[in-house]
Parts: sequence; C-alpha cells; structure tokens
Amino acid sequence: MRIDIISIFPYMFTSPLSYGLLKRARETGVVNISVHDLRGFTHDKHRTVDDYPFGGGPGMVMKPGPIFEATDALRRPESQVVLLSPQGRLFTQTVAQEMVSREHLIVLCGRYEGVDERVALQVADEELSIGDYVLSGGEVAALALMEAVVRLLPGALGSSLSLQEDSLSGAGWGGGGLLEYPQYTRPAEFRGLDVPGVLLSGDHAQVRRWRREQALERTYRRRPELLESAPLTPDDRQFLKKLEGAVTLPAREE
Ligand code: SAM
Repeated sequence: MRIDIISIFPYMFTSPLSYGLLKRARETGVVNISVHDLRGFTHDKHRTVDDYPFGGGPGMVMKPGPIFEATDALRRPESQVVLLSPQGRLFTQTVAQEMVSREHLIVLCGRYEGVDERVALQVADEELSIGDYVLSGGEVAALALMEAVVRLLPGALGSSLSLQEDSLSGAGWGGGGLLEYPQYTRPAEFRGLDVPGVLLSGDHAQVRRWRREQALERTYRRRPELLESAPLTPDDRQFLKKLEGAVTLPAREE
C-alpha cells in the first residue's frame, strides 16, 4: 500500500512515523508513506493556504486551489482520496478492514474552520471522522487511521493471530467482533492481585473457554450493542442468557 498525506504541518508526522509498527512497516516495504507540505502547492510569496469565509463568520477556511493541485499531482487511477472531517463517516475497525485492499490512499488533513466544500464535492472520494469530537486538525486523525489500517496489512505484525484476538475483530474479518478478554503477564501475583488461576493451569481448552466468556461478558457490560452483529455460537448465547439474569446494565443514553 502507498499512503500520501497532505498537511500544512508535515513535521507533525516525523516522530510517529519513526517508531514502532509504522516505522517497521515502512522499513520492510509493507507500506510506503510520504508526507507532503500543502504550502508546496501554493504560488504566492506567503504560501497562503487559507482565506476568509464567504458570508462572514469566525476563522479561516482552507482554499481549494492548493488541495486540488496537490491531489492532481499525486492521484493515479487506483487512488482513493480521503478527506478527514468530523462530519465524515465514522472510521471503525470495519472501515479499517475495508481499506486494507486499497492500493493507494491520499489523505487530506484539514485545519482552521475546515476545508472549502468544493474539495469534498470534487476531490474527496470519502470523508472520514475518527470520532464524535472536534480536533484542531486532521493530522492526529491521519495517524490514527494509518495505525489502524497498516497493522492489518499482511506482514505488518509479527503474528496475524494477534489480529484475530483484537477487540472488535476477534470474531472474524467481517467486523462486528467482541471486545478482547483481559490480558495478564508476569508476575502471577502483584500488589495483592492474583492472575486468574485458569491462565496458570496449562489447560488450553479451559483457557479458551474462559477467554471467550470474559470477552462476551466485557462486551455485554461495556458495549452491548456490539453483540447484535457479533457472530455467536449456541454456547455463547446460553452464556449470555445467564448473564442477562445476573447483570443489570446501566440505562443507555439515546
Ligand atoms: N468547523 C469544522 C466542522 O465543524 O466540521 C471543524 C474543523 S476542525 C477545527 C479542523 C480540521 O480538523 C478538519 O477540517 C478535519 O480535517 C480535522 N478534524 C477535526 N475533527 C476531526 C475528526 N473527528 N475526525 C477527523 N478529522 C477531524
């Protein structure tokens, strides 16, 4: 996969791209990531990327010209242009999984009061939001999107098993998974807190069962709506039925 990011703050990416998964994935050729300074696509002395909003109002709006030029320069037939915006489709694990098959992503990071609407209309194939809150710019959102997508690319993680166990993916690649079971490492006793005995038992069948039940219970308590789309076995359903009798969930906000 190739990812081109367009931003007015390209140096915000230097450190995050130099550590951990993203660094390794770039070094091993799993992904090729380039960051482009939007000001490089301006033609005035001040390298202007923003202007006052038509109709008045606070703040500045990103001009369409530099963004159209930048994407024209980078676009290929297989490219998908993503505009990051709090108004976009919610970026979830399922969307990340969908994006794994893309060959080329061009990611546009907004700033100020946002981006001239003609970018959304003509340049972007899709607008994505990383959550229902407003950031000052798209850079942090671009990093979140890249981390989530790149770790799903073949060869990015040491073991593809960890992907299957992850929260929201555990039940398979179609999304709609459960939250992950609790994890423990050494020491077996820490400040009076013991690791659940079953994890020390060496009985793999018991461990599998315990983990599945923990994942079900966590999901039921924390994100019950996920259970509506998670693939469940008859044993899972029976376990959940028992829980329903034993656990009262807090009322959900609509
Ligand atoms: N006035 C805009 C609105 O209400 O939709 C918000 C502009 S925001 C201050 C500036 C930029 O940050 C946006 O253009 C977008 O690129 C990015 N951004 C902010 N929140 C985001 C979110 N939840 N997901 C993705 N990008 C976001």
